[in-house]
Amino acid sequence: MGLEGKVKKVLEKYRGRDLSFTIKDGVVFLYGQVDTYDEWIEIGLEVGKIKGVEGVVNKVVWKGFPEEKIREKEERRRKIFEENKDKTVGSYDVLIIGGGVTGTAIARELSRYKLKVAIIEKSTDIATGTTKANNGMIHSGIEAPRNTLKRRLNVKGCRMYEQWARELNFKYKMVGSVWLITPRTLEKYRKYFPGPLYTLILKYVLPYVVVLKAWLNGVPGVKVVRGSKIFELEPYAARDTLAAVYVPWTGIVEPYEVAVALAENAAKNGVEIFTNTEVVGFLKDGERVTGVVTNRGTFLCRYVVNAAGLYADEIAEMAGSPEYTIHPRRGVIVLFHKTTGSYVRHCLAEIVLPQHPRTKGGGINPTPNGNVIWGPTAVEVPDKEDVSVDPEEVQLILTKYSTILSEFPKQKLIRYFAGVRAATFTEDFVIRPAKWVPNLLHVAGIQSPGLASAPAIAEYAIEKLAEMGLELQEKPEFDPYREPIPSLRDMKPSDIEELIKKDPRWGHVVCECELVTEAEIVEAVKRGARTLDAVKRRTRAGMGECQGGRCTIKIAMIISRELGVPLSQVLKEEAPLFNGYVRGESE
Ligand SMILES: Cc1cc2nc3c(=O)[nH]c(=O)nc-3n(C[C@H](O)[C@H](O)[C@H](O)COP(=O)(O)OP(=O)(O)OC[C@H]3O[C@@H](n4cnc5c(N)ncnc54)[C@H](O)[C@@H]3O)c2cc1C
Repeated sequence: MGLEGKVKKVLEKYRGRDLSFTIKDGVVFLYGQVDTYDEWIEIGLEVGKIKGVEGVVNKVVWKGFPEEKIREKEERRRKIFEENKDKTVGSYDVLIIGGGVTGTAIARELSRYKLKVAIIEKSTDIATGTTKANNGMIHSGIEAPRNTLKRRLNVKGCRMYEQWARELNFKYKMVGSVWLITPRTLEKYRKYFPGPLYTLILKYVLPYVVVLKAWLNGVPGVKVVRGSKIFELEPYAARDTLAAVYVPWTGIVEPYEVAVALAENAAKNGVEIFTNTEVVGFLKDGERVTGVVTNRGTFLCRYVVNAAGLYADEIAEMAGSPEYTIHPRRGVIVLFHKTTGSYVRHCLAEIVLPQHPRTKGGGINPTPNGNVIWGPTAVEVPDKEDVSVDPEEVQLILTKYSTILSEFPKQKLIRYFAGVRAATFTEDFVIRPAKWVPNLLHVAGIQSPGLASAPAIAEYAIEKLAEMGLELQEKPEFDPYREPIPSLRDMKPSDIEELIKKDPRWGHVVCECELVTEAEIVEAVKRGARTLDAVKRRTRAGMGECQGGRCTIKIAMIISRELGVPLSQVLKEEAPLFNGYVRGESE
């Protein structure tokens, strides 16, 4: 059966709905109306699963579709476009849209070559999209489905992290992961395996299925662990664990720190970074893009990389190559205080089958700075900016993952937050030249494990750019190293004394929870931080137990002083910290 027949067959299931479709170069365009958002998702996913479908553009609307909001957004973009299309900012070989881990990784990789490159980021800082709110796990690649690009790039990317961490000096720990097999693992199928057969399968068959999957996916060193060995590895693992699988290739990072390090190193090697710069349209000569229009003016260019995360579909459409729709998938994460770090040594998960088809199931993992995180959840949401946290989701996480550990001080919860995954309906990374714009590269659908895959994504993207005609001439002066902002937390007392003698600001602790000094905050501002959250990502000021309760105002005052802006204008991320004028400031 041809592609058309297969799509028709899927849509027949939704008889009674007003649905139609067209197909162009393997991309399926869906039209019509359904009742609910859930149905919209379901249809998109069903079509996305069809073999041979290279993308699903879901133009179907549901009851309550935010038509008016979309019209307003388009109108706003059109206005900015008209105002800025004739102002030229500069001329570039490659423009990268999006300053998340994907965009910054590609920029850093391109900075090895004699090219003029820029990152265009709409937000006030890099790493403010999905990159700032995720689990920070460098997955091994076992979980990724076979025959997907994300499996291939995940396995490769994971192995590349050690070198990245060495060169870019971000915190990275190869902690490994432990997957627990418990009586709950095959609960749904228990009725088919009566009596001891159930335990036998869990203890002696299932672990080797996981090892086999690891072998097939190219993940080495995976071992089955049983009995007391499990608790030697993970002392607080659930007492009823029957067997476990140990995966050495799993790392942990602070994801925003990786992107900041990449951006700093890219900038050191000549990449220009434009924050507060939103892409609103494209100038074209025939099929080719000649300029990217932003609120700052037009960036003339030879090649464009679309690494806009949740907005990659809108960028693709603006450029004239709509090939996929992003359906946002929110995940809530719960963060515990540093004192809980001693309860968890590895990234832990309880294998529960059947697994959720669209997440790797979540779990418990340590962070490089000693905290522990639980989660994430996976909920389809219509709004790309929906980072709300439903108390029920927090409760769900606390209940669901409690079975992984025999003991854990849950009262040490200090924060919960949500991130949003940029999923396409084909549920794989989309890294390919645009079908209808020859000098545009899509790097889209970078949902989990996008962070783990980032080094390999960058290499792969550059291979694609070379195939598209970009000439790559190495730059002998490329410097792969980047120095982090020194931190009091990592210093010997004698070094601290020396530093304070040279600069007393090293003796002024601003964030007591994370031991961050005025000198570190000033350095962060010097390196480009313009908001409270940007300072936080670079120094950890405000990330401790009090979550900024004691230091926020002090940090804001330092930012205000260093940037020469009134305190009332200091931003948290996008919005001002204060609601109006601050006492002592003239209006
Ligand atoms: C809850 C959760 C947990 C996760 N856990 C893990 C994990 O443990 N391990 C893992 O490997 N992956 C994980 N992921 C996935 C990972 O976070 C993403 O794959 C990765 O961060 C994607 O990075 P990105 O750069 O592609 O997107 P983003 O970080 O979203 O960057 C895209 C950027 O484009 C900018 N942009 C958008 N539109 C425009 C425009 N018009 N003009 C200019 N700029 C624009 C945005 O502002 C944004 O900064 C998780 C994701 C979630 C949500």
